Amino acid sequence: MSKKDQKLIFEMSQPGRIGYSLPELDVPRKDAAELLPDGYVREEAPELPEVSELDIMRHYTALSKRNHGVDSGFYPLGSCTMKYNPKINEDIARLDGLAHIHPLQQEETVQGALELMYDLQEHLKEITGMDEVTLQPAAGAHGEWTGLMMIRAFHEANGDFNRTKVIVPDSAHGTNPASAAVAGFETVTVKSGEDGLVDLEDLKRVVDETTAALMLTNPNTLGLFEENILEMAEIIHGVGGKLYYDGANLNAVMSKARPGDMGFDVVHLNLHKTFTGPHGGGGPGSGPVGVKADLMPFLPKPVLVKKDGMYQFDNERPQSIGRVKPFYGNFGINVRAYTYIRSMGPDGLKAVTEYAVLNANYMMRRLAPYFDLPYNRHSKHEFVLSGRRQKKLGVRTLDIAKRLLDFGYHPPTIYFPLNVEECMMIEPTETESKETLDAFIEAMIQIAKEAEETPEVVQEAPHTTVIGRLDETLAARKPVLRYEKEQ
Ligand SMILES: *Cc1c(COP(=O)(O)O)cnc(C)c1O
Repeated sequence: MSKKDQKLIFEMSQPGRIGYSLPELDVPRKDAAELLPDGYVREEAPELPEVSELDIMRHYTALSKRNHGVDSGFYPLGSCTMKYNPKINEDIARLDGLAHIHPLQQEETVQGALELMYDLQEHLKEITGMDEVTLQPAAGAHGEWTGLMMIRAFHEANGDFNRTKVIVPDSAHGTNPASAAVAGFETVTVKSGEDGLVDLEDLKRVVDETTAALMLTNPNTLGLFEENILEMAEIIHGVGGKLYYDGANLNAVMSKARPGDMGFDVVHLNLHKTFTGPHGGGGPGSGPVGVKADLMPFLPKPVLVKKDGMYQFDNERPQSIGRVKPFYGNFGINVRAYTYIRSMGPDGLKAVTEYAVLNANYMMRRLAPYFDLPYNRHSKHEFVLSGRRQKKLGVRTLDIAKRLLDFGYHPPTIYFPLNVEECMMIEPTETESKETLDAFIEAMIQIAKEAEETPEVVQEAPHTTVIGRLDETLAARKPVLRYEKEQ
């Protein structure tokens, strides 16, 4: 059997083969029908694959080799910060006293875990320049929604019920308008100018006393630092609105500039991006939210406090928006972020920012002769290229992304932001060596040459993967929920 036709686990199944051995039953046997209410018991046993332990290990090991992850290769997915996950994080997260406690334990018995979360909040306050932080939200988008709900609660507490609009630049991450909609706001789009930054005139035009907040990603998804933040803060605060900072990718400014000092009222961070939590595959994530003092009464409860030398959860928060997550967020990711911050130290975190920006600019300048550079200015942690030159040769950005798979790379983010034609958004991250960056650059240069000389090689890529081009939407629209045996 070639590597290409790996069998499905169902096809490997042999009746009666098992991959486990359980001890003999030493309690009275009960049927499911005796234990479950009527109507909840299956009529037929499910058709599960029957395989040995070795079969299943080999099956999943083989599948994992077909997958692409940060531990298997360079992963320059823009606006996602796919960086190395230090292995010391994993050692710490597995310590008995952290891994084997239960969230329903009495507070006195888990003071160490509470202290860790409290200290992490203190570090994040310092890093962002905010007055209080909650670790509850489970992801970046969840943090956005939590922050917006607090902003709504703040306005309503002031008797201000007409603030129905949230302003979002056209270069924002897609979760921003989505979170605003889920939080019950109407989103208003503000344009980016020729320079890729928010157009201040357009901003002034859309702002009024119905503005609840402006959500800003900085650096924006073009990788550019929004230089006019102080003016924007003045414009928004001038009409009584709040400023929301999407800090998912803080590794472009961490230890250099703080959202709190720029006038932001709320910020969320992605611990599973900037702070090295394993990322992708649906989580778990962590999206802590920091707020300025006037928003503190609205924080989700409980709030972790230190009182009389004890760490405890404070539920006496009458103006709180309520709980947004069972327990206090994803503790395991908090442990990893805490370990990372402590092992890096303040100088280390500053170096992270410097390398993230250096790596992105190095790559951008080396690729600029071969692809179009729509914004020819220094970038932060990521940058965008346009494949419009290649498009004229019949090679689309999608083809370039597929061709990169043949070189063993996960492609960058493509076709986003929408305002850049044939966009490629590349984020190398700070954790890659110059050799790795150079190897990727060489692959991109080769693809640019192929587009000119042998475009069909790019158009028909990938050539080396198990499956060629998948239908990009079919899998999402028509998921296979059940394996049907061919008759
Ligand atoms: C990743 C990202 C988000 C969303 O974070 P999730 O954890 O995926 O919900 C929001 N904004 C920006 C800028 C991001 O990069």
